[in-house]
Amino acid sequence: MYDVIVIGAGYGGVTCAALLAEEGHRVLLLDKNEQPGGKAMTVRAAGFGYELWPIAGGPADGSKFADLARVVGLDPDDVILLPAEAGEFRYIRPDGTTAVVPFSARPAADPAAAVRLPQDLGATEEETAGMMRLVAGVFSMPEDEIAALDTQDAATWVRDLGIGRPLESYMFMLFNLLFVVAVDRLPASEAVRTLRDFFAGGGGRYHRGGFARLAEAAADHVVSRGGEYRPGTTVTTLLVEDGRVVGVSTPTGELRARVVVSNAGIQPTVLHLAPDGTFPPDYVDRVRSLEPSWAFVGQRYTLDTCVIDAPMILRFSDDSWWDTERFARAESGDWPEDPLLFITTPACYDPDLAPAGQQMLLAGTMCSPDPDSPMNEAAIAQVDRLVRANWPDVTQHLVKAEPFTARHASVASRAAVVPGQGGECIGLAQVIGQCGATKPAVTAPVPGLYFCGCDAGGYGCGTHQAVDSGFNVARIVSTALAGAEATHA
Ligand SMILES: Cc1cc2nc3c(=O)[nH]c(=O)nc-3n(C[C@H](O)[C@H](O)[C@H](O)COP(=O)(O)OP(=O)(O)OC[C@H]3O[C@@H](n4cnc5c(N)ncnc54)[C@H](O)[C@@H]3O)c2cc1C
Repeated sequence: MYDVIVIGAGYGGVTCAALLAEEGHRVLLLDKNEQPGGKAMTVRAAGFGYELWPIAGGPADGSKFADLARVVGLDPDDVILLPAEAGEFRYIRPDGTTAVVPFSARPAADPAAAVRLPQDLGATEEETAGMMRLVAGVFSMPEDEIAALDTQDAATWVRDLGIGRPLESYMFMLFNLLFVVAVDRLPASEAVRTLRDFFAGGGGRYHRGGFARLAEAAADHVVSRGGEYRPGTTVTTLLVEDGRVVGVSTPTGELRARVVVSNAGIQPTVLHLAPDGTFPPDYVDRVRSLEPSWAFVGQRYTLDTCVIDAPMILRFSDDSWWDTERFARAESGDWPEDPLLFITTPACYDPDLAPAGQQMLLAGTMCSPDPDSPMNEAAIAQVDRLVRANWPDVTQHLVKAEPFTARHASVASRAAVVPGQGGECIGLAQVIGQCGATKPAVTAPVPGLYFCGCDAGGYGCGTHQAVDSGFNVARIVSTALAGAEATHA
């Protein structure tokens, strides 16, 4: 009998598990994968350390990952890498020339960069002033005003600030990259909260030893605090007795706990793991109707020389960002000339992640989350075309190109349980109706079950949202356990 079983060692699950173990609760952490990190796991093979797809973190400086490092006994200054040259934006201007704009993971060290960026992208003085108003507004907006933007779409909110075309393309590209949803469906409230963190802390964080290094340390921390971590263990069913979740079934037997926290995704948990009749029918209907984020699809390139010297590259034009209409166009096969391209090179952050003189770069673009969508093949072809055209040395020095699709994302993380779902990049989509006050609740409508990870309990970009959720859900579960103990006493 455990206090808490956590299903899933993604960044949401490991954070929650480590915090509850740190508090002295008896925690069992289960994951179907052989290693922690979920979608952000780090693979180590043939002298390389890499994620399955491009992953870097934001905010970079002052992030929740630094808090997690402290909890699990690591020095954030040692494990969290914040390069002064974290990467570069490559903006393809309407005349076809490219503006290369470097960015830092320590924006506080170079405050003038915020003014240089609009100029480098070709914004007019008036448009630059609009951008400065946007930045100032994001920092000064009180919480009640932010909450009121839950139903306002981020694209209209940005356009109304009059920042002009290049800066609009920049902002919309960021929204696509951070949330992987249509810019006209993203709530401005989620955008403002996240931008505030990015404007203060920058982007382009990575972790020494691989992005999942902190997830691995968190799983170890569970064990060092008297808990258990069982990799390679798939939960097949939730155990429900007398209207309460009391544990889980696995292929090797039943495991019981006072509380179960699922990091496996709300849809897979409710529609796949829970026995029929566990939840009220209207809740099941609502869960079925929830929308996933889009996927991110592309290729890993193993090279016998170093071709790229920037840890992270974001390449975009005025046609790269997608709203609902542009996504539909690409889904039907009509792709823009320059789809958004996101590249990371782990060894540019940490040289120990590749054999000397070799390199692995990971490149991707947006795609349908449907593991069976033909858009997956099209996205890989687009990524390959752009990578080879812009870095011709890749073709000459290619050792291996390995595609990754929405199907791979589903296998590494959540089951596909609703048509068109499974390969989502983030988790549930951060769209109007699924964010802020209308975000699905952490507490399931059956006692003993909670959700953590990107689907509930946090805000922000990808892994950061997962860790934010892990902290918040641990607090909620801890309070529930204390309340149950007090009642029992
Ligand atoms: C291609 C791609 C690129 C991305 N790039 C970035 C990026 O640059 N920056 C960023 O911050 N984020 C990025 N993300 C998003 C980020 O990785 C995710 O949003 C985040 O890692 C999700 O964390 P999570 O805790 O919600 O769940 P997940 O990482 O999805 O973890 C869920 C865990 O639950 C386990 N599980 C599921 N079902 C079961 C079961 N039945 N039994 C046992 N275990 C189970 C899974 O194995 C998995 O380990 C990217 C994602 C993808 C796919």
